Amino acid sequence: EKLLQRPATIIGTPKQARNDHIRPPRALYQPQRINSRGIELGDRAALQALLGDIGAARRPLSTMAATTAEQAVAAIAAGRKGFAVWSTTPAEVRAAALERAGDLLEQRRTTFIALLQDEGGKTLDDCISEVREAIDYCRYYAAEGRRLFGDGVALPGPTGESNTLRLRGRGVVVAISPWNFPLAIFLGQVTAALMAGNAVVAKPAEQTPVIAELAVTLLHEAGVPPEALQLVQGDGAIGAALVAHPDIAGVVFTGSTEVARAINRALAAKDGPIVPLIAETGGINAMIVDATALPEQVADDVVASAFRSAGQRCSALRLLFVQDDVADRTIELITGSARELRLGDPRDPATHIGPVIDAEAKAKLDAHIAHMRRDARLHYAGDAPTTGTYVAPHIFELRSAAELTEEVFGPILHVVRYNASELDAVVGAIAASRYALTLGVQSRIDETVARIVDRLPVGNVYVNRNIIGAVIGVQPFGGSGLSGTGPKAGGPHYLPRFALEQTLSINT
Ligand code: GLU
Repeated sequence: EKLLQRPATIIGTPKQARNDHIRPPRALYQPQRINSRGIELGDRAALQALLGDIGAARRPLSTMAATTAEQAVAAIAAGRKGFAVWSTTPAEVRAAALERAGDLLEQRRTTFIALLQDEGGKTLDDCISEVREAIDYCRYYAAEGRRLFGDGVALPGPTGESNTLRLRGRGVVVAISPWNFPLAIFLGQVTAALMAGNAVVAKPAEQTPVIAELAVTLLHEAGVPPEALQLVQGDGAIGAALVAHPDIAGVVFTGSTEVARAINRALAAKDGPIVPLIAETGGINAMIVDATALPEQVADDVVASAFRSAGQRCSALRLLFVQDDVADRTIELITGSARELRLGDPRDPATHIGPVIDAEAKAKLDAHIAHMRRDARLHYAGDAPTTGTYVAPHIFELRSAAELTEEVFGPILHVVRYNASELDAVVGAIAASRYALTLGVQSRIDETVARIVDRLPVGNVYVNRNIIGAVIGVQPFGGSGLSGTGPKAGGPHYLPRFALEQTLSINT
């Protein structure tokens, strides 16, 4: 414990973010200002030594009974009772519970870091970043909740009435979360919905059930009533049973575009109240590099954006457009930087890239690589361990962006060259994908940056830096089009999306 109190070397200020990646990827999540105590998760080597002990004692994480459809339906019914209690609990009390949850997470950080390594296969840096992000969600939404869900806003009363506008919970919200951030996104969804006064029935990804189980226990311990937050375990069929239930008041979902569409259809098809979907899905995220960009900066940022977390982030870079004058040099630098990445056991602190989530994900990525090896020009293929679900980083050059038609969720980068006169066509190609999650622009010409950014309504735009690791309260995260319904997690407008508005006019 003592060792862990030493300041983490990876804490910086948001201003430094653009230069964080002079070396191969390092953790870049910085606690945001609201979290004024800072979170010191400790020296990597000391932490790893401690995790080694936990790891040796741990039980297998892989078995968890799935919830039956009947149990899922019962959870909604219980959730309605939970809602009656929780929605009338003062916002201050709800916020205090979330803050306690943040404190408990901080206390139990090593357990969660170990779980993220074991169950999620994430590297130590990624685990530390994720625990920080989860803590920040609790604290940020608590602070936002106090601001938004207190007494309401007094409105003018021109005829002598008193008019107030206030926010209140919607009812039972179903939260369906992904395996790639099994703690942070899981808790982000749940804490936002709870802070807004809803009851929640959460269904985590079937690949990462244990983390969710512990996170829910922690929230109950922090003061969230058990009926206001229930967990159901299982695959998509259980999620579908929840979504189809007539008594739910909303769905928050992070995952694939395809599943978001299926949820939308299911919500539209049933009788009863019309309920909203908050969805954050994927992207064919692009970065445009012109001839004025700093080559070393580009190399570091591209490698971090495309390969960190084994490319298993919605925000990750998939498609790199490089101006032809600098393309050879840029690709050479990126390749050189990628060569320094170490693939292997996520428990080894020297590892930059761990395994992908499961055999199915690996098979899909391997098939894409095989297809690209036939149809595209291979610039780089890294080495991956031969056992386990590892996928080595690959860099392919395409003739046109149109050759990449869907999100490839792994460490595979696609490069397309363009000449200066084709910039508008590049912007057009990005727009034509209809994804709009993250975008990178590397250029020292302000007009070029503005010309690109003004034409693309992408959710998160990053200029002259990497495009991953959005910080809560600093870079609210989420996109539109095929990438989601628009609300931005970790931002000041997020909580109202989970709430109803009510005016109260009193004739005094
Ligand atoms: N918020 C994460 C980031 O900025 C990505 C979340 C996701 O993959 O869904 O990298």
